Amino acid sequence: MFEVDKIRQDFPALSQKVYGKSLIYLDNAATTQKPQVVIDAVNEMNNGINGNIHRGIHYLSSLCTERYEAARETVQHFLHAAKKEEIVLTSGTTAAINLVAFSFGERYIQNGDEILISEAEHHSNIVPWQLLCKRKGAKIKVLPIYKDGGLAVKQLPQYLSPKTKLCCITQMSNVLGIVNPIKEIVSIAHTHQVPVLVDGAQGIVHQDIDVQDIDCDFYVFSGHKLYGPTGTGILYGKEKWLDAMPPYQGGGDMIASVSFEQTTYAELPLKFEAGTANYIGAHGLKTAIDYLNQLGLPAIQVYEQSLLNYALQQLLLIEGLQIYGTATPKSGLVSFNIKGLHPADTAMLLDKMGIAARSGHLCAQPLMQRFGIQSMLRLSFSFYNTKEEIDKAVTALVKARQMLIH
Ligand code: PLP
Repeated sequence: MFEVDKIRQDFPALSQKVYGKSLIYLDNAATTQKPQVVIDAVNEMNNGINGNIHRGIHYLSSLCTERYEAARETVQHFLHAAKKEEIVLTSGTTAAINLVAFSFGERYIQNGDEILISEAEHHSNIVPWQLLCKRKGAKIKVLPIYKDGGLAVKQLPQYLSPKTKLCCITQMSNVLGIVNPIKEIVSIAHTHQVPVLVDGAQGIVHQDIDVQDIDCDFYVFSGHKLYGPTGTGILYGKEKWLDAMPPYQGGGDMIASVSFEQTTYAELPLKFEAGTANYIGAHGLKTAIDYLNQLGLPAIQVYEQSLLNYALQQLLLIEGLQIYGTATPKSGLVSFNIKGLHPADTAMLLDKMGIAARSGHLCAQPLMQRFGIQSMLRLSFSFYNTKEEIDKAVTALVKARQMLIH
């Protein structure tokens, strides 16, 4: 039994009212609410357990360093990574992808090379590669999706060539909710000697991840989507790549020695962590992961899948509603349009009824173009949502439709 009523009490944000209505928060793919333990963990450090890490030998510095490194170990175990040196703490998915785009790009990308991405990527997994390609005279290739949103994995070998230097694919689309067969993709890419970066921003929230089993070369995610603080994130990279890649940013903490003539760099992972790290956020992220482990990822997955199935069933009863991304497996969210309604108008009406939904291009304009539209409406679920909330959202959508059409 998944005790959702009890779990909801862990999240103070869920009991607030907006416009006098009880909040129904269905924008979890954008960011998740924080459990009290995470809020407490961050507050405790801001209230006094605060000393800059790695440099000081005083009590507070040592304690914060311990907590920061404990966070790294927690993430290592959470991802089932082989070594803690393979875990780089960043400010989020975007920062992690930009790190790889710059650093891997500096070392390995040359004029005429190709980087393969998919048609269903978030802008964060498109634009850093475009910037890299501009710098280096390389080219982006795009693996298409089918009409139902499924990735054309069968075509993958045709898109890989000796020029392909990296393949960057989302584990789960933040628009379609479709979960890509990452392990299979990695295996195909590796037979062509192409390393793979997996954008796990959405994927990690809904399932257990084992980077060694997937065998991906890089895996990135954001803390704030995983019930942790904003400004936290992770880059997992196989040691052989991280070792070979040059530093991304220069500054304190990433050096071994500095003179005006020459600087040598710190060992992994500090080589990639220039400047004062977000050690308070890291402790918050560790607390969030501990919390999730306590709830149990398999139980979370089963419950969230039942919410999604219920939502799909109920939404399809609404006249004129079209869902984008009908392929399976699908997880955690549903994006759609209702004939005759602009998603921004609908989201605004839902908001006034206390329901937080997302509308717009969802940071995936190429995907919108693929479907020949400008925007969608998205409901995204967490284990703290309920079927009653979905019922209320569906009723609100029907009401919005009546208001806007008739
Ligand atoms: N990739 C995917 C699939 C996402 O859904 C998001 C955020 O919505 C990102 C990358 C970017 O994450 P962040 O803004 O936390 O860096």
